[in-house]
Amino acid sequence: MVQFKEVKIPEGDLIQTKNGKIEAGDHPIIGVLRGDGIGLDITPVMQHVVDEAVNKAYGGQRGIAWCPLYAGLEGLHHYGTEFPDETVEAIRYLKVAIKGPFTTPIGEETHVCLYCAHQQYHGGKCDKCGREDGVTKRFRSINVRFRQRLDLYACVRPVRYFEGVPSPNKYASKVNFILFRENTEDVYAGYDYERGSEVATAIIKLIKDMTGREIRSDSGIGVKPISEFGSKRLMRAALKWAIQQNLPSVTIVHKGNIMKFTEGSFKKWAYEVAAEEFGDKTITEKEVWDNFDGKVPEGKILIKDRIADSIFQQIQTRPDEYSVLALPNLEGDFLSDAAIALVGGLGLGPGSNMSDEIGLFEATHGTAPKYTGMDKVNPGSIILSAVMMLNHMGWSEAGDLIINGMEKAIHDAVVTYDLARLMRREGREDVTEVSCSGFGQAIIDRM
Ligand code: NAD
Repeated sequence: MVQFKEVKIPEGDLIQTKNGKIEAGDHPIIGVLRGDGIGLDITPVMQHVVDEAVNKAYGGQRGIAWCPLYAGLEGLHHYGTEFPDETVEAIRYLKVAIKGPFTTPIGEETHVCLYCAHQQYHGGKCDKCGREDGVTKRFRSINVRFRQRLDLYACVRPVRYFEGVPSPNKYASKVNFILFRENTEDVYAGYDYERGSEVATAIIKLIKDMTGREIRSDSGIGVKPISEFGSKRLMRAALKWAIQQNLPSVTIVHKGNIMKFTEGSFKKWAYEVAAEEFGDKTITEKEVWDNFDGKVPEGKILIKDRIADSIFQQIQTRPDEYSVLALPNLEGDFLSDAAIALVGGLGLGPGSNMSDEIGLFEATHGTAPKYTGMDKVNPGSIILSAVMMLNHMGWSEAGDLIINGMEKAIHDAVVTYDLARLMRREGREDVTEVSCSGFGQAIIDRM
């Protein structure tokens, strides 16, 4: 047994992965990080909903052993740092964890308060909320550091419609896709150089010397690395998901017409994985038209590709033609938020960051500090992320109960303030506005 200082591993089964399959046992130990701000409101509600669903689905034979882990404000209080090494090691050890949102400093200020996200130029007392034990030096995003330290290379975002949620899109009810966004490369890899800097100047000169091509000398320079290794493992993960969940297609999204050797290569490598490693289970659009008159043969997953700008149109005009989408990092960032907007906004969008070994499930919204501790906000995002987590462990019966309960609660218009406001604006008069925990209870009552 690994020894931790602050982490108390509860009685239960340590999750294992064998040959890419997860073995959860009947009482898996799962890490839970409450996060900052409204993380404190939504995370316990999620745990309560999950416990009730698991209990109901398996008649008390199964249960989750939650293991509290600490980062953000709780990291500061337990370890004196917002990003403790022990927390990273505990996630690595437990393999599955779920987390609320974390404060990320975004301004120029030197310090940030982890209670209220206020930023200022000194430590000690927060100028906004007055708390003395939450202000720390500015730091890099906790979420990004989890991804990097644990090499969580796939950001997975399911997007689906819940009947009753006001949506700007006429075809919202046909939306049901899952995005696999590469998480470690592309313009996010951090090679971004200020104009006039040594590196930017050297790159401009190198390109001029080697190719004769001119870049304006007052340009900032960003580097966009996309590797065969990174592209193939992302596509492999998307294909495994499509096979495991019996889904009809995987669409490779790219801007390879302009960026031939980054996004274009992403497309090429993605097709190669499909053909070389999953050839018996996949078929390309071209093969379907050449050999099967446009009809996908039974049991095959259709592999297609779309240029990024066209997919932004098609998810609005023909959403039902898309199921799994595999994307490079930047396209994935844009498309995930656009796709969520199609079905009515960010509040209900779940997500996870995954490697072959580890799944870190998360609420996708921020810490909304002004609502902290009010038991007010919508816990839908983290609850749906928990559903992904249950499916990941093969506990889909419990996941289905939660989806079912949430569908009915939204259908009955028993919802938190955010959805209530939208529904009333659409002219609904039967809306019952409930608290964060009230929404959790409404789901449980309808499972
Ligand atoms: P935010 O998502 O916290 O809040 C924006 C607004 O959205 C809120 O004022 C609220 O009106 C609404 N909102 C957010 N979540 C909601 C929910 N569950 N239910 C109902 N309404 C909800 O974004 P922000 O204000 O830009 O960021 C606040 C802090 O959160 C910042 O420090 C930011 O860096 C951080 N953040 C963290 C994550 C993450 O950890 N995954 C993501 C985004 C932002």
